[in-house]
Amino acid sequence: MVNASTAPAATGQTPSRLRVLIVEDERDLVEVLTYNLHREGFDTIVAYDGNEGLRKAQTQLPDLILLDIMLPGMSGTDICREIRGSERTRHIPIIVISARSEESDQIVGFSLGADDYVTKPFSSKVLIQKIKALQRRMESGSETSDVIEHLSVRIDRSRHRAFHEEKELDLTPTEFRLLEVMLRQPGRAFNRHELMDAAIGEGAIVLERTIDVHIKTLRRKLGEMDLIETVRGVGYRFRERFT
Ligand code: CA
Repeated sequence: MVNASTAPAATGQTPSRLRVLIVEDERDLVEVLTYNLHREGFDTIVAYDGNEGLRKAQTQLPDLILLDIMLPGMSGTDICREIRGSERTRHIPIIVISARSEESDQIVGFSLGADDYVTKPFSSKVLIQKIKALQRRMESGSETSDVIEHLSVRIDRSRHRAFHEEKELDLTPTEFRLLEVMLRQPGRAFNRHELMDAAIGEGAIVLERTIDVHIKTLRRKLGEMDLIETVRGVGYRFRERFT
């Protein structure tokens, strides 16, 4: 694994404080979040409605966005879509703050490109942990870790080898990339477009069903059918844990 503290290039500068944009109309919650984020050494930018939130995301280019869904002006889902649709902002990690706990809301958030979510009411401690996890992921970013491991699956990117229960898998390059993308974020639902972009290349013109075919062979090679889960109406995800 790449150590977050060693990941940024040695520029000779001290790393700047992470700037978190909070888009949330509940002022009490904003106050609590701001207090806790400052205490953890983050800088904050605040927007109390959707339009202001999108504008600040686009103009101030924060390092991370905490995004409420139910907002006056523009909804969080629309903001998410805009942010992911623009070259300048699409890399910014988003944590959705959802008022509802239904899985469908979380899936909608993920399918729009959110990176993680918390459900109200949530503890600041949990949120800070999620922010730090995303921060580590960002810092490892382009220098991504060479070995990714989750449950019984391990892949070694530099050597282009994949293992299930220590047994090497014979994967095609496309299957390998598909597995890698999902394995990086276990539990996150990916839609077929995201998987196609990741596995085949952005803008590739292939049928969505192509992904289903690749997933099918990948599942067969993994042996355990339920490591890759079907998310109805969305796409696929790598199992987060066995319960
Ligand atoms: Ca709200």
